[in-house]
Amino acid sequence: MTTTDDAAFAVDKSGLVRRLRLFLPERCLLAEEEDLRPYECDGLTAYRELPLVVCLPETEAQVIDILRTCHQLAVPVVARGAGTGLSGGAMPHAQGVVLSLARFNKILRVDPLARLAVVQPGVRNLAVSEAAAPHGLYYAPDPSSQIACTLGGNVAENSGGVHCLKYGLTVHNVLRIRVVSIEGEVFEIGSEGPDAPGYDLLALLIGSEGMLGVVTEVTVKLVPKPELAQVVMASFNDVAKAGDAVAAIIAAGIIPAGLEMMDKPATAAVEPFVKAGYDLEAEAILLCEADGTPEEVADEIARVTAVLTQAGAGNIKVSGSEAERLRFWAGRKAAFPAVGRITPDYYCMDGTIPRKRLAEMLSAIVAMEKKYGLRCANVFHAGDGNLHPLIMYDTAQPGSWERAEAFGAEILELSVALGGSITGEHGVGVEKINQMCVQYTTPELDAFRRIKSAFDETGLLNPGKAVPSLHRCAEYGRMHVHHGDLKFPELERF
Ligand SMILES: Cc1cc2nc3c(=O)[nH]c(=O)nc-3n(C[C@H](O)[C@H](O)[C@H](O)COP(=O)(O)OP(=O)(O)OC[C@H]3O[C@@H](n4cnc5c(N)ncnc54)[C@H](O)[C@@H]3O)c2cc1C
Repeated sequence: MTTTDDAAFAVDKSGLVRRLRLFLPERCLLAEEEDLRPYECDGLTAYRELPLVVCLPETEAQVIDILRTCHQLAVPVVARGAGTGLSGGAMPHAQGVVLSLARFNKILRVDPLARLAVVQPGVRNLAVSEAAAPHGLYYAPDPSSQIACTLGGNVAENSGGVHCLKYGLTVHNVLRIRVVSIEGEVFEIGSEGPDAPGYDLLALLIGSEGMLGVVTEVTVKLVPKPELAQVVMASFNDVAKAGDAVAAIIAAGIIPAGLEMMDKPATAAVEPFVKAGYDLEAEAILLCEADGTPEEVADEIARVTAVLTQAGAGNIKVSGSEAERLRFWAGRKAAFPAVGRITPDYYCMDGTIPRKRLAEMLSAIVAMEKKYGLRCANVFHAGDGNLHPLIMYDTAQPGSWERAEAFGAEILELSVALGGSITGEHGVGVEKINQMCVQYTTPELDAFRRIKSAFDETGLLNPGKAVPSLHRCAEYGRMHVHHGDLKFPELERF
């Protein structure tokens, strides 16, 4: 079996181009270096690779032909949506084809009675909610990249967003997908009903990072827009207190529509950019949204305010209008680009930890800033315990990226040690592949490899991503024994 990152490929580019030209029109195939360059990375720009070619199919029949051809010629295939991914999932393979779904951008059906929409995978996340809005409905998972990222990418990464705490991740909001296998066979998984017979392959395919099949159609749930939504913004003079307040809200039995946290470096970066009205004196702010009927919202806001006060919040402000609510969120949603304005480069991490350990993680990050000599701003999907430390670095400075990478790896490994996970929503991709060796045991990784093999025996779909080879884990295990201290000694080594 040749799967994942131990596979070697040697592809004859001109032979491949000749075969693809048999069924792809000129406008659907890019093979010159200047045309390939825009596809060399996704949102994780530190990792880059030029593909051999980029295919931009317009029909499912073309997707099938591309995959069949790649299968016959043993050519790796990397599916691509908008390229906003933050783990290098859509980074090309040097011997491979990038299969862009950008032209699959049609909303095929909005059914307000069944409360669902059927869309092509290249449709932007926000466009689904815009199409559903006239019916008083929307698509709940809302990554901060929603103006650009696509449903195909959301399915492949099981993306989350501010509203996922209450309404669930992509996996909870997708009813059915249509997929083309590497052999060019089409299959549909899921149904419009609440359950389907057999194994839950839909949950398996969602979050599979383009490694099991190429999605060509997605059926999503739509939910009614709440009558009212309001945001409570609370300031804390201590990040640990803010972290504890998050755990206290959930412990009080409240599931807010959104519960986000930003530390002082993050609000300082955001405020001049968005003018969201954040308290710049606070060490951390929490944004907590209540939605529902006006009575439900009033009740939840009263309960949240009581918990926040008890937890030591200073200023507490409730959005007084829809414009103000959107402004509070605009700051949080623009946190990444805002940090991008104050540093030449930043590296966004994505670990998840139990909520009650947020304060411990934050103190550890402060110590890591000193250790690596780099600044870090923190934004969190706090209700989910999902961290997004934004490590600031400068590629122009020798060693700066290496320090940022080591800083990031330490955060991820600490996430595991605190009882959490190396990823909350951005996927593993190429970025966290080493930390998969820390998160999982050999038998668990072997099970992943066998699942991959069941869908893609020759390992052509997105090789080198998400599931590490045992060889890689052995190498990584060796690299991480410092001063004779074996990290995580309870984990099996190979
Ligand atoms: C500013 C910013 C904010 C972000 N905020 C969030 C956030 O709040 N929550 C969150 O979860 N993510 C967030 N992200 C990450 C990113 O937007 C998501 O992972 C998104 O789902 C990627 O979608 P995309 O269309 O850009 O996919 P791409 O980056 O193009 O691809 C992502 C993965 O999906 C695979 N893929 C794409 N299309 C298909 C398909 N049709 N079939 C099979 N596989 C496919 C690719 O091979 C790759 O592995 C953010 C990114 C940025 C830049």
